[in-house]
Amino acid sequence: MSHYSIKHIEEYYQVYRKSVRDPELFWGEIAEEHFLWRKKWDRVLSYDFSKPEFKWFEGAQLNITENCLDRHLTTRANKTALLFEPNNPEEKAQHITYKELYERVCKLANVLKQKGVKKGDRVCIYLPMIPELTVSVLACARIGAIHSVVFAGFSSKALATRINDCDCEMVITSDGSYRGHKTIDLKAIVDEALEQCSGVKNVLVVKRINSEVSMTPNRDFWIEPLLKEASANCPAEIMDAEDPLFVLYTSGSTGTPKGMVHTCGGYMVYSAYTFKNVFRYEENDVYWCTADIGWITGHSYIIYGPLANGATSLMFEGVPSYPDFGRFWEIVEKHRVNQFYTAPTAIRALAKENLKFIESHDLSSLKVLGTVGEPINEEAWHWYNVNVGKKRSPVADSWFQTETGGIMISPIPYVTATKPTYATLPLPGVQLALMDENGDEIKGNQVDGRLCIKYPWPGIARTIYGNHKRYKDTYFSAFKGMYFTGDGALRDETGYYRITGRVDDVVIVSGHNMGTAPIEDAINEHPAVAESAIVGFPHDIKGNALYGFITLKETGEGRDHNNLRSEINQLITEYIGPIAKLDKIQFTKGLPKTRSGKIMRRILRKIASKDSENLGDISTLLNPEVVQDIIDTSL
Ligand code: AMP
Repeated sequence: MSHYSIKHIEEYYQVYRKSVRDPELFWGEIAEEHFLWRKKWDRVLSYDFSKPEFKWFEGAQLNITENCLDRHLTTRANKTALLFEPNNPEEKAQHITYKELYERVCKLANVLKQKGVKKGDRVCIYLPMIPELTVSVLACARIGAIHSVVFAGFSSKALATRINDCDCEMVITSDGSYRGHKTIDLKAIVDEALEQCSGVKNVLVVKRINSEVSMTPNRDFWIEPLLKEASANCPAEIMDAEDPLFVLYTSGSTGTPKGMVHTCGGYMVYSAYTFKNVFRYEENDVYWCTADIGWITGHSYIIYGPLANGATSLMFEGVPSYPDFGRFWEIVEKHRVNQFYTAPTAIRALAKENLKFIESHDLSSLKVLGTVGEPINEEAWHWYNVNVGKKRSPVADSWFQTETGGIMISPIPYVTATKPTYATLPLPGVQLALMDENGDEIKGNQVDGRLCIKYPWPGIARTIYGNHKRYKDTYFSAFKGMYFTGDGALRDETGYYRITGRVDDVVIVSGHNMGTAPIEDAINEHPAVAESAIVGFPHDIKGNALYGFITLKETGEGRDHNNLRSEINQLITEYIGPIAKLDKIQFTKGLPKTRSGKIMRRILRKIASKDSENLGDISTLLNPEVVQDIIDTSL
């Protein structure tokens, strides 16, 4: 029996039971057998949900890059670690071997050191999906600097908020990025952000699109000449297992984005273990995850999980629609991809296109299909299973969050029988609970409730950067002694889980976690806006889209609504980024409120979803009269 790579369903149940019976033994064995530690732990786990505090492998020392790079040099030096497929199909793909990646990481790590970056310092990485992004992440980890990758689709204001929140002293960016037929001037966005970030001392700039950029003397440096001078030997900083590895921001239902902190030891073990089991990676496979490294999926399943397992990880710079909707399948054929991991929103978008885009490509190399980021609807699941997987490659609908570090619920391909729209069973070590609104656990099957996790796992985020109280309030206050995910789920008669969606004010749009509060804050900056409320509504391709209910100030009342709509979306683009734009904007005379003045989003959600028949009792509202008017003018 092997914990690390489960082969049969009976084995799954055995391993699962063991992981619950004796979690320390279970994770201790995995950590011991599959990783390189400089010093072993004194204790596998200590925890206290009330603080909350979680320590995994305390006393152990390691460097995650020795696990992702150095240890492969004896057996896999010439194996491709990163397979880079550029945006433009005419540009040659790059096969970067473990040895080359190791050297590139060491060189950049030396450059960072030379620029004064030390263990514990925060480095913001704002790069497109090019190899330098992976190299930068690993170079930070090499010297113990904490990376904070910001998705390069965020606006300058959103970038500035994130840079300031974790006091980054350095930013690594590029002159620009390619995205389909477009180019984006990333350096200009960084320059604008840095007007608000006085703590940033240096900016390293990768040349990608060869555009003219302005370079501030003594602050901005082209990375290439520095790398040329740098040594390819950089001893790894020895880290404690509980030292922070990175900060990654995720939206909350209120307030500013939350910088989730992940630590070196537990995150490494968890991302690598889940990668191995969910993707069934074998030595010569080519594995491809289409996520952006700006999200947790990219951190755990493009970089750390695959590289810790010595895998070949494909990184794609472009978009599924460029030069046409066959691009994904062309790449699968070209590189003989074995595991393919994408998001339901991409599947739905591709399913709308002509099947000839798929049929003209040989997809016979595929063994495992994965999906992540949002619930997958039945139609998309079948389309993926039939047309991409040819009913041969199991679909792993994997559920996890930025906060969990790695996959928590997923079928293990060829082991767990799949069921459309179900993420199925918890991975070993993951103890789930469904809770009711009174805080009681709902036992038995065929039930639904709020999804919680009642025992620590190694990948759990340890805190919110600079705000432990918020960490406690957000995740550990709703249900005593457990972690609350913010999602609802149901458990069927066989114990399979299906995630039903968020139960808070976060809306998942195209697989991206969108807190509604920051969007409302952006809208409220508009001089004509008095008040706004954002809710999600079902959308064919995006899963959910955003609907804004907005009341105007007197000064705004005579204004042309279409002009206002585009100004409002412009503001959102400026404050957050185009991904947060509203699909529908309805101007209303008022917003339904409770007597204590809280906006009743539940009612607005129903109206936006065209379900206004079932609004429930609205008589206790402060202003019930506005409701009918909103329904009558809804879009
Ligand atoms: P993020 O932290 O941005 O990765 O977003 C996490 C959220 O995405 C979860 O709380 C879920 O609401 C949603 N999510 C992720 N994966 C799945 C999945 N396989 N099925 C349903 N929802 C998912």
